[in-house]
Amino acid sequence: MKITETIEQVRQLVKAVRVQNKRIGFVPTMGALHIGHISLIETAVKQCGFVVVSIFVNPTQFSPSEDFDKYPRPVEKDLEICEKNGVDIVFKPDVQELYRSGNLTWVTVEKLTDSLCGRFRPDHFRGVATVCAKLFNIVGPDKAYFGQKDAQQAIVIKQMVADLNMPLEIVVCPTVRQPNGLAVSSRNKYLTEEQKKAAALIYKSLQRCQQMIEAGITNSSQILTEMHNILEEPGTIEIEYISVVDAENLQELKKITGKILVAVAVKIGSARLIDNILVDTGKQ
Ligand code: AMP
Repeated sequence: MKITETIEQVRQLVKAVRVQNKRIGFVPTMGALHIGHISLIETAVKQCGFVVVSIFVNPTQFSPSEDFDKYPRPVEKDLEICEKNGVDIVFKPDVQELYRSGNLTWVTVEKLTDSLCGRFRPDHFRGVATVCAKLFNIVGPDKAYFGQKDAQQAIVIKQMVADLNMPLEIVVCPTVRQPNGLAVSSRNKYLTEEQKKAAALIYKSLQRCQQMIEAGITNSSQILTEMHNILEEPGTIEIEYISVVDAENLQELKKITGKILVAVAVKIGSARLIDNILVDTGKQ
C-alpha cells in the first residue's frame, strides 16, 4: 500500500495503473475509520482492481461553530485499517495541498441542498461537493463509494456527477449499524455510554416509522408525532429535524407515497448525529 500526501504522486500512481486497464475504485473519507468505512472499502475492493482511499478532514464543509478542530484524526490506526482491507493507495493531503490555489471556484448543487441538513448547515454541501469534485479530478476513479447513512450527501454528489458530466459512477452502500441499531459514525466517539443508549432511539424511531407505513398509514404528521414522542422520551435528545421527503427530489411530503426517505438529525451532548431509512410504498 502506498501512502501519499501530494496530488502529483496520486496522479502518477493512478496513471500507471490505468494503462493496465484496471478499474479504479475510490472511497473518500474524513478518517477515523470504522466498520461503516470498511464496508465501503470492501465493496470497492470486490468491484475494482485498484482502490484509492482519501483521508481528509475538509474544512470547507464545517461551519465555524462545528467540530473541525476536535474531529478525531487517528492516522496510524486508519492506515492499518486500509492496509488490512486491501487498499492500494491512501491519499492524505493537508489543507494547503488541496486548497493552495485560493479556491475561488465552488460547486453549488441547487434545490437538493435546501432541505434536511442543508437547512441547518448552510454551506456544508457546497464544501462537500467542491472537495468531491477536486478529489474526483485528482484521482480519476471509475467508481466512487458513498454511504447511505449520509443520504443527502450521496444524492447531491450523484446530481453533481450527472450535471457536470463527470466520467464516473457513484455507488451507494447500505448503512452499517451497531447491534442496538445505532448507525456507526466517527462522531459516536463524543458520546458517553448513557448517551449511546439514548442514541439507539434514533433507529428505533425510524423502525417505528417503517412499521406505521407498512400498516398503511400515509399521513406524515401522524408518523412524525410518533417519532418525536420516541426521541423526546429520555429528555436528552435535541431534535434538529425529522423529515419525510421524496427520495429523489428531497421535497417534504404530507402524504406518504412512492419512494420516500425518512431522515433524522439530532444533537446528543456535543454530538450531532444523522440517520435515515428508505421506504418504497410501491404506490405512485
Ligand atoms: P465520513 O468519513 O464521515 O465523511 O464518511 C465517509 C463515507 O463513509 C461517507 O460516504 C459516509 O456516508 C460513509 N459512512 C459513514 N458512516 C457509515 C455507516 N455507518 N455505514 C455506511 N457508510 C458510512
